[in-house]
Amino acid sequence: MKERRILIVLNLEVLEDLGIQEKIGDPVVLEAAVGGQGQQQQQQAQQPVHQPRQVAPISNTNFYGNNKPAPQNQLQQTMKLAPSSTGGHAAAIYPIEGLSPYQNKWTIKARVTFKSEIKHWHNQRGEGKLFSVHLLDESGEIKATGFNDQCDSFYEVLQEGQVYFISKCRVNIAKKQFSNIQNEYELSFERDTEIEKCEDQSSVPQERYNFVELGNVSQIEKDNTIDVIGVVKEVHDLSEITSKTTQKPISKRDLTIVDSSQYSIRLTLWGKQAQNFSTDEGNVIAVKGVKVSDFNGRSLSMYSSSTMSVNPDIDEAHSLKGWYDGSGKSENFSTHANIGGSLSAASGRKEDRKTLAQLKDEGIGMSEQPDYFTTKATIVFIKQDNISYPACPAEACNKKVIEDSDGQWRCEKCDKSYPKPNHRYIMTISVNDHTGQAWFSTFDDVGKQIMGKTADELFQLKEENEQAYLDVINGATCTTFNFRCRAKQDNFQGQAWAYLVVLGATTINFTQASKELIELINAYGI
Ligand SMILES: [Zn+2]
Repeated sequence: MKERRILIVLNLEVLEDLGIQEKIGDPVVLEAAVGGQGQQQQQQAQQPVHQPRQVAPISNTNFYGNNKPAPQNQLQQTMKLAPSSTGGHAAAIYPIEGLSPYQNKWTIKARVTFKSEIKHWHNQRGEGKLFSVHLLDESGEIKATGFNDQCDSFYEVLQEGQVYFISKCRVNIAKKQFSNIQNEYELSFERDTEIEKCEDQSSVPQERYNFVELGNVSQIEKDNTIDVIGVVKEVHDLSEITSKTTQKPISKRDLTIVDSSQYSIRLTLWGKQAQNFSTDEGNVIAVKGVKVSDFNGRSLSMYSSSTMSVNPDIDEAHSLKGWYDGSGKSENFSTHANIGGSLSAASGRKEDRKTLAQLKDEGIGMSEQPDYFTTKATIVFIKQDNISYPACPAEACNKKVIEDSDGQWRCEKCDKSYPKPNHRYIMTISVNDHTGQAWFSTFDDVGKQIMGKTADELFQLKEENEQAYLDVINGATCTTFNFRCRAKQDNFQGQAWAYLVVLGATTINFTQASKELIELINAYGI
């Protein structure tokens, strides 16, 4: 397949002691496959069209030769025969996740969770119409589209919320830019596509969500599509604006929703959805496939394909409702307003998470106003010359002191001499993340945190035991922190550059960091 890599794993050793006993995927025993490709294809061709796909002929032992009964995997469970009373489907019911262009004998049993309006197009090559539906089963989701004749045949047949047997469609590579469905493939209805309403409407789930907590929306890039669930805190009035693209008036309504991450966010509804919205404040809404916009920090906007359900019967909704009625109602909420770009400069000390590459790409610290940001980075090098300086020990002075001829340390500012100085860190560190490198300046507090010692202690160590001193420095490199920084423009030999100062450093909370990474990974919809 174009731009696709197929991985063939040979001589795989299964580590039974690790408790892996289930069959992975749908493998066939070797004997059946060794007859050469030609024979295999022939065998497939000879299979009667309406027979369910054969499960590998494994004798009384399971795939790995254990005598214990192997747990059924999900694929097998969903591959039940469709009851013949529903119209003689003798083909196996396939899970949506199992569909691929390599298989054409299948029937899926799926619920229509969304049906578009009919769209008409006119271009140089002609005109036509199309509609699409989103189909859902226990294994996953897929988008299906009907063009022209198939639009006529199936538009009225398929109703939102209903379950159908569907077979004989073309399976194509998904055009993800037109869809918020997380599937590699999509279906298109063809002349001989068969669609039949299922009598048993209950065995297919209603909707599938992959919720992002409102507190984490700031980490999702704009224009991504996510699912959210929240309590309606405020319903704003319906208004009308003129669409920039069509120049036609369009209705608009903003909602403010909140969740237990104690964040609120604005969600904009459009057109009929805005007009028809009649849910009271305090209800839970689950929204699928909503667009992340960077307007006013972060906000959410419904696509025509986004779906919303009010007080859905799912665990997340019940726990949110419980939280809101209990304590949530009276809590204060943070917003995603004022994060990023020019807004952060205007509002002062709002800090935004940046990668090191972003610092350069976005010219952080290169404008009139200082920028503030946070970044997760690893110390890879600590400059050893000038790691600390001898400072005045007087309270809140911190001026550099100079040793005079009689061994006393003199502070010009205090106009006083002291028997010994108080060393303070003034470190320059080189940090890296997965995107790039930067030099950070750190002062005493952060230096103590990085070194785990005061500058005085480190200075003394250097005098007494050079190796122990080097060990401390080596121990401090390759450590990772969340750095809170200020970036200010500076000039060196006529060249403007960003001077990056660490204001604070915290060690990584791996649980929290993993949670954030999971949200990010999920946002890619892989
Ligand atoms: Zn002083």
